[in-house]
Amino acid sequence: MSERRPLISGNWKMNLNHFEALRLVQELSYEISRDDVDAVDISVHPPFTDIRTVQTTLETDRIPFFLGAQNCHHESSGAFTGEVAPSMLAKLNVAYVIVGHSERRELFGETDEIVNAKVKAVLGAEMTPILCVGETLEEREAGEAESKVETQIRGSLARVKAEDVASLVIAYEPIWAIGTGRTASAEDAQAMCATVRAVVRDKWGDTAADEVRIQYGGSVKPVNAAELMTQPDIDGALVGGASLEAASFARIVQYRLHDL
Ligand code: PEP
Repeated sequence: MSERRPLISGNWKMNLNHFEALRLVQELSYEISRDDVDAVDISVHPPFTDIRTVQTTLETDRIPFFLGAQNCHHESSGAFTGEVAPSMLAKLNVAYVIVGHSERRELFGETDEIVNAKVKAVLGAEMTPILCVGETLEEREAGEAESKVETQIRGSLARVKAEDVASLVIAYEPIWAIGTGRTASAEDAQAMCATVRAVVRDKWGDTAADEVRIQYGGSVKPVNAAELMTQPDIDGALVGGASLEAASFARIVQYRLHDL
């Protein structure tokens, strides 16, 4: 089985103007050591209006974080007022694009079909999608968590080649744990991430399943990061609220230094 490098991603959502974004990325660079970067890939996902500022800061100050985006359109150009094309992000050296976040699915009506088009567009622009999947509380209580996630994975990755699936990131994010302070237990998170990997194995084969990186997301904090991150099928974390504060995001990145 291949070694999967952990990826810890900060989703800033619709927070921070470009001055505030600049300050956060600089503060974060003071908190993160060379050893941290050697052990973990780190990506930050500012709002679109901050991306150019953050890019310039990362490159000028040689800060070894990957730049990320939170969304994009699936078309490469055209009459899509208010949208941003994947190639525009690639030109800013964006490496990772979050696709199908539950807030986009729930608030902006993104279906698996739309998410599938976005995954392909991001891959086509030579960036890495972070594909988000996860169930609602009602679905979990009805015993439908696995089937919901399986449907989302098969739909969102329809007709994506096995070698591309191997290269991407899937974030399992139970919707009831996002921004609620309620985290899935490490046991439940591991079980669902194992399900994600099993679905990938069944459809795309062993190499894709062994190489795809699976993040857990949903109220990840410094206090629970180590227990989550040391589960065998959890290869990283997608962090919302706790990524807006340099010290807390850094402590999550440094999960391996904390006692379990
Ligand atoms: C997220 O935005 O994907 C997320 C998991 O948010 P939070 O960490 O705040 O729950």
